[in-house]
Amino acid sequence: MRAITVVPGQPGSAELSEVDEPEPGPGELLVETLRLGVCGTDREIVEGSHGEPPPGRERLVLGHEVLGRVREAPEGSGFVTGALVAGIVRRPDPVPCVPCGLGEWDMCRNGRYTERGIKGLDGYGAELVMLEPDFAVVVDPRLGELGVLTEPASVVAKAWEQIDRIAQRASIVQERALITGAGPIGLLAALMGVQRGLEVHVLDRAEEGVKPRLVGELGAEYHTHPGDLGEPDVVVECTGVAELVADAMQNTAPGAIVCLTGVSQSRTLSLDVGALNNELVLENDVVFGSVNANLRHFEAAAESLAEADPDWLAGLITRTVPLERWQEALDKGDDDVKVVVDFDG
Ligand code: BGC
Repeated sequence: MRAITVVPGQPGSAELSEVDEPEPGPGELLVETLRLGVCGTDREIVEGSHGEPPPGRERLVLGHEVLGRVREAPEGSGFVTGALVAGIVRRPDPVPCVPCGLGEWDMCRNGRYTERGIKGLDGYGAELVMLEPDFAVVVDPRLGELGVLTEPASVVAKAWEQIDRIAQRASIVQERALITGAGPIGLLAALMGVQRGLEVHVLDRAEEGVKPRLVGELGAEYHTHPGDLGEPDVVVECTGVAELVADAMQNTAPGAIVCLTGVSQSRTLSLDVGALNNELVLENDVVFGSVNANLRHFEAAAESLAEADPDWLAGLITRTVPLERWQEALDKGDDDVKVVVDFDG
């Protein structure tokens, strides 16, 4: 069967390879890949700056955003043949640390977790994949191919869950949310903000095209200048751009919660740490980081997508390329939001 593979650390090594079909162990599912989403992490792995192959191997099967159809489900697995599923990315560390032992592998404390298609485990970018039932989530069949958005939505569902938990510390009622970046993560964060009844503002560079249109269709407000944003009660920073991260922490309403979800390039900025400290202390602000997602978050993501307008979700997938031309999915056009590889065509 065909699989997208790469030698981590070796730029230019990614290719469509012929590999052996997986042989699911007892209790495991055999899943046909239908769609695979591509994100910044995949691009980093292909460029050689991220990723780790399975132990004793050179090549890693790429891909962690999958929509598949169950081909074989053992009895008692809780899954039926033909069901649409999304695969969870992370697996708990073998120790395990306390959070991993309790199913909160997204909070792993010792860094020895593994991740399908990223760190130490083959990913989902193959025509057939093995999936453990505890790491598979049912996708509403009405979503169809839009179910490929489950993984990015899970990362956002975790961020919002953590914001909600932090909000329990006081009687503040959150009204206004700012999302920085109108990529897939930012737009899904905006969707979930609107689903929570918040007044949502989205900041991005794009002056025209898909991004402002999608934000408008959500009933949220689109901005291209940080100047006219007002003071948000919640910020979900989805770019990792140092200047935006610095702004996100400083220009908030008293008692604000700022969630950082983007990964940054190294960047030195001159920042008045005293002023930042005073803003945080004297206004009871919280700034926290959020990565990955556990089963709870995948389930919340699947629910949120099932409640969303499917036409709006379809607008997030700006390009679908056939498996033979999967490399084209790596080139992100200015107006691209999510690019998806079609394994089913
Ligand atoms: C994935 C996360 C993963 C992170 C770091 C992201 O692209 O969505 O699940 O934890 O990369 O590897």
